[in-house]
Amino acid sequence: MHDVIVVGMGPGGATVATHLARAGLSVLGLEWKTHPRYKVCGGALSARTDRLLEPDYHAVVEETIHRVRFQYAGAEPFESFSPEPIAYMVMRDRFDAHLVRQAREAGASVRENERAVTVREHADRVEVETQQGRYCAKVVVGADGANSLVARTLFPERRGRMVGALEGEVPLKGAISSLGAGTIVLDLGAVAGGYGWVFPKEGRLSIGIGGFQGTRRNPRAVYQGFVKTEPALDGLAVPDGLGHPIPLYAGKATERLPLTTSRALLVGDAAHLVDPMLGEGIYYAVASGRMAAGAIADHLQERTADLRTYDVQVAGELYPEFRAAASLAWAVYTFPLLVHGALRRRPASVHLYADVLKGHTTYQGLLGAIGDRLRNFIARAIREKVASAVTLRSARR
Ligand SMILES: Cc1cc2nc3c(=O)[nH]c(=O)nc-3n(C[C@H](O)[C@H](O)[C@H](O)COP(=O)(O)OP(=O)(O)OC[C@H]3O[C@@H](n4cnc5c(N)ncnc54)[C@H](O)[C@@H]3O)c2cc1C
Repeated sequence: MHDVIVVGMGPGGATVATHLARAGLSVLGLEWKTHPRYKVCGGALSARTDRLLEPDYHAVVEETIHRVRFQYAGAEPFESFSPEPIAYMVMRDRFDAHLVRQAREAGASVRENERAVTVREHADRVEVETQQGRYCAKVVVGADGANSLVARTLFPERRGRMVGALEGEVPLKGAISSLGAGTIVLDLGAVAGGYGWVFPKEGRLSIGIGGFQGTRRNPRAVYQGFVKTEPALDGLAVPDGLGHPIPLYAGKATERLPLTTSRALLVGDAAHLVDPMLGEGIYYAVASGRMAAGAIADHLQERTADLRTYDVQVAGELYPEFRAAASLAWAVYTFPLLVHGALRRRPASVHLYADVLKGHTTYQGLLGAIGDRLRNFIARAIREKVASAVTLRSARR
């Protein structure tokens, strides 16, 4: 019998496993695939990730981002530069393999190519069955991503919002992209209710689209449209994108149900801990993994009566951030053209947002700082939308 079984060894699971093993607990990690494995993901880590991970992860960072090029449907570009890094780019195969190696070095046992197929919670233990065997532990962690088996089985009432995203890798093969070093592209006009991105990596560009608000028809056509209009992709052979769901935090009542039972707990995507503004999930998978490990160690080492300290910490530290991010996302994705225009006129406002990514402030701090300006902006945007609808209607008559 293990102390803890962690199902899924992405960033969330690997973090829990590392911290629990360091706390002296016996940990079994079960991973469906074999690392290093490809994962559909932009691989952008906000610079504040430095506060969560040990510096050696920089060995797998492929590009450090200091500059953001904003565009609207491939046009109206402007750039914002930061002397301090805003983000780091990784390929998920190398990044996740690094975190799993760290978990093994800490003492966790990791079985790869072993998919969990059933999970049962009993009064005195949990049981996880894979195609190869059956394992028991005192606690199970669901770190098995957006389509989590652990969440579906042990937390059937928890439901959240899934949105779609498509991502593709463009090998440069010696070709030169017009994108300067250390620069990413964000395009608010690429997809309704979301954005398109180009992220540079070693010898390739990762490109994608994600829609975070409203419903989307034919994402492949939207992706192709972005590829056609994006100047950084001119002359490059761009393969089709691969789709994957993003479990965005949407604050629904069913999503705010506990993330713990007596012997189970969810982290990362399995827990719907993805920021609704950018779709950033790696930071929160690692952050929730650390919180989960603390709550499990406290419980199994008899400092607390149960695992609920994890729910309290997530509700106190992450949900308020997501709620603030959701308010910002609503304004940005409802009035993307006006937001693009406003940022273009005042690029300094971009630095305020970059401070969130650098960890100098939070989404809540940002909203506090720009609350009045944002309210005025929304009121003006609504007036402009109403005025243009009235003009359009009278022109049709
Ligand atoms: C197109 C796209 C682009 C994105 N871009 C970014 C970005 O640039 N930056 C960012 O921060 N976030 C991004 N995200 C979100 C990010 O990918 C996730 O939030 C993050 O991977 C969550 O980490 P996790 O450890 O919770 O889950 P995952 O990384 O999904 O890891 C889950 C692991 O569990 C394994 N698994 C699943 N089922 C089982 C099972 N039954 N048994 C055993 N193992 C199992 C999987 O193989 C996987 O290794 C993006 C997502 C998408 C779809």
